[in-house]
Amino acid sequence: MTQATFRARAQCEALDRNDTLQGFRDRFALPENIIYLDGNSLGALPKATPARIARLVEQEWGGDLIRSWNIHGWANLQQRVGEKIGRLIGARPGETLVADSTSVNLFKLLATAVQLRPERRIILSEASNFPTDLYIAEGLAGFVGRGHQLRALPTDAIEAAIDDDVAVVMLTHVNYRTGRMWDMARITARAHAAGALMLWDLAHSAGAVPLDLAASGVDLAVGCGYKYLNGGPGAPAFLFIAAHLQNLVSPPLSGWFGHENPFAFEPTYRPAPGIACAAVGTPPVISLAALEVGVDLMLAADAHEIRRKSLAQTRMFIDLAGQHLGPYGFTLVSPLEDAQRGSQVCLAHQAAWPIMQALIARGVIGDVRAPDILRFGFAPLYLRYVDVWDAIMQLEHVMQSGAWKEARYQAKAQVT
Ligand SMILES: *Cc1c(COP(=O)(O)O)cnc(C)c1O
Repeated sequence: MTQATFRARAQCEALDRNDTLQGFRDRFALPENIIYLDGNSLGALPKATPARIARLVEQEWGGDLIRSWNIHGWANLQQRVGEKIGRLIGARPGETLVADSTSVNLFKLLATAVQLRPERRIILSEASNFPTDLYIAEGLAGFVGRGHQLRALPTDAIEAAIDDDVAVVMLTHVNYRTGRMWDMARITARAHAAGALMLWDLAHSAGAVPLDLAASGVDLAVGCGYKYLNGGPGAPAFLFIAAHLQNLVSPPLSGWFGHENPFAFEPTYRPAPGIACAAVGTPPVISLAALEVGVDLMLAADAHEIRRKSLAQTRMFIDLAGQHLGPYGFTLVSPLEDAQRGSQVCLAHQAAWPIMQALIARGVIGDVRAPDILRFGFAPLYLRYVDVWDAIMQLEHVMQSGAWKEARYQAKAQVT
């Protein structure tokens, strides 16, 4: 690992001037005097989104009413945006669909996985996975009720536990609390060697790190629309089913939008061919349109340039934290090794909550993951190198002045 040493803000200004992605920042509506390090939780607003939504609402909904399902392509929006996300994640055509939430998609794909491996009873995951992934797996295992179990183990015990009881290995590619990234191709190959299926959660990967699901031989995947894809609060999620696994078992949520011919109104369910059968009910058209704007913006950028800048910025943040925060009792939680780090840096501190509130009051927005993690997400399309510098200077100031000890920063909020 090589670490440059940053001693002046001017160095960051120079990096911004030479940044090949610098043109993208102006395509986001960012407030003045805010440094946004939470694009991994809720991506920023693309400037093109409000006009797109206004047109959809006023002209398509208001003017063309129900005819819009045909004339404005609402009926194919899930497929259309799904195909675009498929290009971002290295899927082949016909493998990706936008639908529902990440949680619901996890249920659908886990159910499919256990049906595809009927002799096996174990869903294997990390105990430190995002809670909804674990909750859904537990719920599904109980629902199936044939001795199925979620086995949630420490990270370093996962590989050795992939055996011939395991139906599906379910992992989040970039961990939400640590930013640690799995080697997708290697773990997928390990799962396949044991006859298990591999399901990746790409919530903190899509739009942040280069992905090639086809080359990695991935079976199943899900991901979020509102994080690095900038689709807006509650944006619909996506799911991926490798072509060779499609249509082998009937979809667990057999809704009419996944029927071969919804408008035949047949009394009996017949799944649509291909990924289309993973749709369930009427899609949220307004949210889908907002997501498409975010995805189009992401497709205009070079994924490898995004990764290069993301690594440069997270490395710089770690380096500056080492130089400026030494006396204040922070511990680096994220991996130092570039290949193991997603697009976030997490620092542990006993007083994580009030420190973050004091930092947010100074215009630097990150978030806290209980009990002690300060989480900083790096969205290279709109984050500048000077922002990284300024964020660390503000954090140093919060610590040096003891501002975080003020009473107003102690109160907990509902959403962290
Ligand atoms: C953000 C996130 C989710 C969120 O799921 P929703 O159904 O959209 O609430 C799920 N899994 C992981 C790993 C996440 O980071």
